[in-house]
Amino acid sequence: MQPHILVVEDEDALSELLQYNLKKEGFRVSMAADGEEALMLVEERQPDVVVLDWMLPKVSGIEVCRRLRTRQESRNLPIIMLTARGEEADRIRGLDTGADDYVVKPFLMQELFARVRAVLRRIRPGLAEDNVVVGDITIDRVAHRVTRSGTEVHLGPTEFRLLDYLIQHPGRVFSREQLLDAVWGSDVYVEARTVDVHIGRLRKALNKAGDGDPIRTVRSAGYALNPN
Ligand code: CA
Repeated sequence: MQPHILVVEDEDALSELLQYNLKKEGFRVSMAADGEEALMLVEERQPDVVVLDWMLPKVSGIEVCRRLRTRQESRNLPIIMLTARGEEADRIRGLDTGADDYVVKPFLMQELFARVRAVLRRIRPGLAEDNVVVGDITIDRVAHRVTRSGTEVHLGPTEFRLLDYLIQHPGRVFSREQLLDAVWGSDVYVEARTVDVHIGRLRKALNKAGDGDPIRTVRSAGYALNPN
């Protein structure tokens, strides 16, 4: 089944470009040009993902996001916000209001596709792509196989899930708590230190098969997977 995306964007040129490219990429696409229409279409058509522009007429993107989060049926609907360059405060506010991710304008279509697939993978793993390559690391989700520079890397199930999560956002730093929520689930009680143990195992396995440590430890912040 094709994943269904609702694009909420009031600029005609960008809106058309998004519609054209998302369709070509195999998505089913609905379009809304303002916040009110977006709220109505979410209820009517129940999309799998919403790509939501920040600056919209009538009801702003942030307000749409907030309202979707308060409704039971759209509480867990993935939302990717489109924000203007340099508006760091907006991005943080967007994530606080419940957006799952954001893309900064102007962006490459490939970047948006990657974000859309990442949120889909989280809610509906079967919809996302099967192979991801970042630098010299390849992950095959169907075979549950990881290679580095062509050499197979043997990982336990938790290390595999950790890598699978980190690889969706190369370069981004995740705190231990974020990794716990994403990999172990928010309803499981696991000590934050457990993350360090599994990162240690993942690192050891990856480094055995290649040069250079791809995992970056950020003191008192968390971990990131380096894109190169
Ligand atoms: Ca706009």
